[in-house]
Amino acid sequence: MAYDPDNIFAKILREEIPANRVYEDAQTLAFMDIMPRADGHLLVIPKTQCRNLLDASPEQLSAVIATTQKLSQAVMKAFGADGVTIQQFNEAAGGQEVFHLHVHVLPRHEGKSLRPPG
Ligand code: C5P
Repeated sequence: MAYDPDNIFAKILREEIPANRVYEDAQTLAFMDIMPRADGHLLVIPKTQCRNLLDASPEQLSAVIATTQKLSQAVMKAFGADGVTIQQFNEAAGGQEVFHLHVHVLPRHEGKSLRPPG
């Protein structure tokens, strides 16, 4: 499937719309999810065009997962979490709503459920 350069995360990357940015390196950007399902819920994206996991290059995958690991450790510490759930959706049938590859980082506390989406 084609990449739409006007998807909302592409606009965040171009700074056409705001986001609560928390981390950036040469290949990836992370920002807080606007509808958090847990305290500290953030998203990690590649800076280059990529529709989803099915479309990703080895370099994009490796950069995104390395940032996901780094920020999982940091956000667990910052929020005193006991664990972290990593979620990632592909195509509409797979639950994807924004068509630029992104990984959800959801800090978790013992016995506490995720808030429902929306
Ligand atoms: O299902 P999918 O992971 O594609 O959902 C998109 C996610 O992006 C949602 O969790 C939504 O809250 C988040 N989002 C965001 N900032 C926006 C638009 C969507 O954090 N401007």
